[in-house]
Amino acid sequence: MKISFHGAAGGVTGSKHLISAGGKRILLDCGMFQGRRQESLNLNYGMAQELTQADAVVLSHAHLDHCGLLPLLVKRGYKGHIFCTQATRDIAEFIMTDSAGIQEQDFAWLQNKKLSRVEPSEPLYTRDDIPETLDRFRVIPYAAESGVWSELVPGVRIKYFNAGHILGSAWVMLEFDNEKGPERLAFSGDVGRFHTPLLLDPEYAEEEAPVLLLESTYGNREHKPRELAYEKLRGVIRRATDRKGKVVIPAFALGRTQELIYVLHLMHNRGEIPDIPIYVDSPLGINMTTIYRAHQDEYDKQSHGDFPNPGELPLVFDRICFTRTVRESMDLNDKAGPMIVIASSGMMEGGRIRHHLRHTISDEKNVILIIGFQAEHTLGRKLLEGETPVRLFDDWYDVRAEIVTVSEFSAHADAKELHSFADHLNGLKKVFLVHGEHDQAVALRDRLLYDNDRLEVTIPQRGESIKL
Ligand SMILES: [Zn+2]
Repeated sequence: MKISFHGAAGGVTGSKHLISAGGKRILLDCGMFQGRRQESLNLNYGMAQELTQADAVVLSHAHLDHCGLLPLLVKRGYKGHIFCTQATRDIAEFIMTDSAGIQEQDFAWLQNKKLSRVEPSEPLYTRDDIPETLDRFRVIPYAAESGVWSELVPGVRIKYFNAGHILGSAWVMLEFDNEKGPERLAFSGDVGRFHTPLLLDPEYAEEEAPVLLLESTYGNREHKPRELAYEKLRGVIRRATDRKGKVVIPAFALGRTQELIYVLHLMHNRGEIPDIPIYVDSPLGINMTTIYRAHQDEYDKQSHGDFPNPGELPLVFDRICFTRTVRESMDLNDKAGPMIVIASSGMMEGGRIRHHLRHTISDEKNVILIIGFQAEHTLGRKLLEGETPVRLFDDWYDVRAEIVTVSEFSAHADAKELHSFADHLNGLKKVFLVHGEHDQAVALRDRLLYDNDRLEVTIPQRGESIKL
């Protein structure tokens, strides 16, 4: 078996791992690189041509850094199928279409700027590339439903287990036929947390696998209980309401936005927060919420307990306003607080959130509430580290709004949970730590080895190929 790490190795974005075994090549995820503009451009346009020769693609979940280069893969000649769960397929359609629109805009912007260092001759991909990409999708149910291995191509089988990270997310067990018998590898995708609203907990499996590709986003961190996040959220909303300010929440359109709607709904029902309007200002976030509503069969038991009234849905209530059009979005800037505005993107690098920040960041009565992971070199990371002034569009803005960070909302397992995930995999011998910044991966490696010094733990770098 050979593993080639093409992304999310030595970093968190661009998840792509090519597994070659038994004469077959399987690509795990085909995600987009994000972060520093120039570097991401080079990496995305420079995607290795060998990936288009894969026999099959297996998708863990529909976040952009896991599915965002699928349209490019197909555009550059990939002929096989793309396997995923039903909810992942539904979500990926919107994520890829939204991304295609951004690629078209970015390309137009680059053309205007005539940057000397990078001059792509065409957009990474466009909305025209989406239908053919979607034609390649094939849905595989979770193993808990089907109970059997599903064939990807002759000689390679898969089982999907719930990863509890976002709707449809899965971790993967692959089995290859080889001369000496079947060879297995497990891939964690992104591991979620226990007791996340709506979502089922990450699932453990009976099957043995000697090799694991494990994410390490929070390999050096232990999350505090979620209830602490809710307590901070209630406090922030009360403070801002007293000041007649706005609570601006940059949130990933997928996952985090739905969790926020859920907890705000619950707090509203229980009278724990002031009765103020909540705007979800993200067309993608609205579409994602619609898909979440359509997959109620995948909700956990807790959500039924939280919303016991017949007909009451966790993601619908009268204080939530969804703003779709640009006009509606701009009108929010003229509306006086108090109010809550949820908009994407979560790391504040694009999307409508930047307009809201421009109008709120320099006024101390407002709160910018950071609830998601902020990668290096993003505006979110700068705010989190207390930088001021910050640049938005072509101007600089002093940061006077209250900046509050609540990390307990994370959709990623912490060090303890990642450790436990590896611990529950039977027959494990080798771990490759992917999807983490260097210090996080090193801390997780040390933690795993401290507990079990017979494990082999490697931190591969992008571009590295390792033969087992
Ligand atoms: Zn993810």
